[in-house]
Amino acid sequence: MSRVSTPPAKSAAKSSDKPKNAPSKDFKSLIFDELGFQSDPNNLYRQTVGSMLYAADLMKLPHYLKIILAQPKNEIMVHFPVKMEDGSFRLFKGYRVQHNNALGPYKGGLRFHHDVHLDDVKSLAFLMTMKCSLVGVPYGGGKGGIKVNPREHSSTEMERIVRRFTTAIAHQIGPDYDIPAPDVGSTSQHMAWIADTYAFLSEVGGNNPNAVITGKPVGYGGSLGREKATGQGVVDTLVELLPAVNLKPENCTFSVLGFGNVGSWSGKIFQDKGAKMIAVADHTGFIKSAKGIDAHALSAHVEKNGGVKGFRAADACTKEEFYKTKVDVFIPAALEQMIQEPEAKMLDCIIVAEGANAPTTPAGERILLQKGIEVLPAILCNAGGVTVSYFEWVQNKTCEAWDLKTVDAKLNKHMVEAAARTMKARKKYDCDLRTASYIAALERLAKAYEVRGIFP
Ligand code: NAD
Repeated sequence: MSRVSTPPAKSAAKSSDKPKNAPSKDFKSLIFDELGFQSDPNNLYRQTVGSMLYAADLMKLPHYLKIILAQPKNEIMVHFPVKMEDGSFRLFKGYRVQHNNALGPYKGGLRFHHDVHLDDVKSLAFLMTMKCSLVGVPYGGGKGGIKVNPREHSSTEMERIVRRFTTAIAHQIGPDYDIPAPDVGSTSQHMAWIADTYAFLSEVGGNNPNAVITGKPVGYGGSLGREKATGQGVVDTLVELLPAVNLKPENCTFSVLGFGNVGSWSGKIFQDKGAKMIAVADHTGFIKSAKGIDAHALSAHVEKNGGVKGFRAADACTKEEFYKTKVDVFIPAALEQMIQEPEAKMLDCIIVAEGANAPTTPAGERILLQKGIEVLPAILCNAGGVTVSYFEWVQNKTCEAWDLKTVDAKLNKHMVEAAARTMKARKKYDCDLRTASYIAALERLAKAYEVRGIFP
């Protein structure tokens, strides 16, 4: 029987409590060979698709759906030159991967990062298909990005890079076809430049050029509540699932890895519900304070200084001290594959709430599950962002503007329903929550394929 239906006493989780159907260490799928996947077990794309295939096997998904979902429909790569402020030219590389559109237009963020690769973008696009299906928004999955470090460029250079990238992919996106959004390194200002550039290309602009992208500033077609949406969804999921492990937000301590959009909003909203944040890390350093770190004050510090380093109301600490800090909830909200075996061994928590996409490797997750730690999977936990992106798109298309109360209430409904569908699948298949969330997502996709069929 799963631990969620029989909650363990706080900190009394035992490995013997773990669900019967936890992914085995040697999980391999014939599909990997059939489709020529990379053999490296540390490859992110292999890992993310592997988790889905494990769930697909458990629920006996037909073979044709497994192969369709194991690869994206389209992988677009562009190279484009941009004039720098010193008069020189640089060539940039951009991506847009369109994974699946069985349930609606492709949807997913744009990552601006110097280390972004095709496999990362493919993995993130795949996760978007699963996430949109799980949370019940009528979209498929996509993802894109530019290989660029936004911190190295002035605002004028970034504007040229973003507008030129938009021109390069303009014929591959559209309000009814593929709708990007922000991700790591991209901001609402970047989204505004994309929407504006797209609107200028009138032959592809159509009637709702704004709706080609979400995460825009509220003054230019954005939705109230979008900026905080992913963090809000993380906390909505926690509020829904904490009682199953005998926890309440007001009694919780927590730590956060990554204090950007997702990490800072998760921190602020969870703190406003009474939880106490006691350790934080980002690319600039690690800090902790047993008395509590005020998430609002830290957020203002990060805004001003670019990172958590130097925040006076907490002590600097080492990576080991950060991970070993005993908390109820640990929220990874930075990049992929950061919770590997060593980090999982150090973590001392009851719940890992994945704010980031794919932050936990399969090897890391096995250790967490063996330690009796619940992992709230990313496709459930961080689905708040795409859900409010969907609300923004609906508002653009209907020329409406919803108030924050309406947005928050509608978001909560989607999160609660997605959590309930995940729990139902967990109960039925006696599996870990990640597998259950994939099963719930795959059930919806399978129904769509069943009635649509495969043309011709
Ligand atoms: P962001 O750029 O606002 O923040 C990223 C954070 O990660 C920063 O605090 C940065 O310092 C930290 N970081 C980067 N490298 C690090 C390292 N090596 N060690 C420690 N910290 C490091 O990005 P974001 O929008 O908050 O996205 C974070 C994660 O959440 C990503 O996985 C993203 O795909 C996912 N996500 C974002 C949204 C959204 O709406 N923004 C929605 C769903 C999922």
